[in-house]
Amino acid sequence: MQQKYALDLHTHTVASGHAYSTLKENIEYARETGLQILGSSDHAPLMPHSTQEYFFTNNVVIPRSFGELKLLFGVELNITDYNGSIDLEPRVLNRLDYAIASLHPPCISPGTCEENTSALTCAMHDPYIDIIGHPCDPRYPFDIKTVVSTARDKNVLLEINNASYNPKNGRAGGEAITLEMLAECKKQAVPVILASDAHFYLSIGDFSRIEPLLEQADFPEALIINRSADKLLDFLAAKKTLTHSKNS
Ligand SMILES: [Zn+2]
Ligand SMILES: [Zn+2]
Repeated sequence: MQQKYALDLHTHTVASGHAYSTLKENIEYARETGLQILGSSDHAPLMPHSTQEYFFTNNVVIPRSFGELKLLFGVELNITDYNGSIDLEPRVLNRLDYAIASLHPPCISPGTCEENTSALTCAMHDPYIDIIGHPCDPRYPFDIKTVVSTARDKNVLLEINNASYNPKNGRAGGEAITLEMLAECKKQAVPVILASDAHFYLSIGDFSRIEPLLEQADFPEALIINRSADKLLDFLAAKKTLTHSKNS
């Protein structure tokens, strides 16, 4: 498989408790398929049967380069209330390369449109949050215009999540919301990030369910951050969250 896009920052390992591949298997597959950057983003501690804090603070043991592949070590945080609270402390987040924040049913009940919008926009005001994971979840309706303009103002990437469009996924049915969000992103020139949300190595770098939506939206390639590894690294550096490992 030849990669059209350079990177995938939303992938899980066995540490998440409901994913099935190891970090080594993920790295090997990312290298085989020609990704330039693999981001490992296991679920934060409040997701049942997931990680604990030490899992994240010990990440200095992991090299950041594997041949041509650069590894980034991040997290998928849980937004836990409508004020945008998250489930890792700044002293832990300081040690990570990036952070995704998402709404998940075990950690926050779907609220009204106003409450969900508040949860997302407040999370985006947190300087540690680089990416909002799968915002286009029909269970959590939100005000698209407000969320896109907050993403623009706070320099946060909105994720388009390949797993969400699997009809068997809990977030299925978000195509219309996604098209609406893509139209707003295009209008406001706000970049998006494509993500596999792989819970098994074979899904890494798979954006095949997203591509028809991008086409339908006539979405500009220039607004897709996955196009260039450098673009993403510049973005993270600008957010000042990219930690510089001794191994890189
Ligand atoms: Zn998961
Ligand atoms: Zn998620």
